[in-house]
Amino acid sequence: MNSYVRWKMGEPRERTVIAPLKPAHPVARFPCLVCVRPLGDGRPVQLLAVGPDSEDSRARCAAGRWFSALAITVHAECLGTKTEKEATGEQ
Ligand SMILES: [Zn+2]
Repeated sequence: MNSYVRWKMGEPRERTVIAPLKPAHPVARFPCLVCVRPLGDGRPVQLLAVGPDSEDSRARCAAGRWFSALAITVHAECLGTKTEKEATGEQ
């Protein structure tokens, strides 16, 4: 299952921390690419932009514009994000 986010080169790849996935979520049984444990193991997750999802997006990327990027799901912890507040910059 593919996920997509809006992204532009130079902008952070990490997206907002998402609450732990429910067991029935399509990607819950897939392994995190960092720690290889299931994404649905109860920890918050985050989407990470990888790169352009099409030729059109590739052209927009090359031109320094916002484009639709393919994204992967990983544990927020595995990206070094400890808490949701930390990720959103709230105090
Ligand atoms: Zn992980």
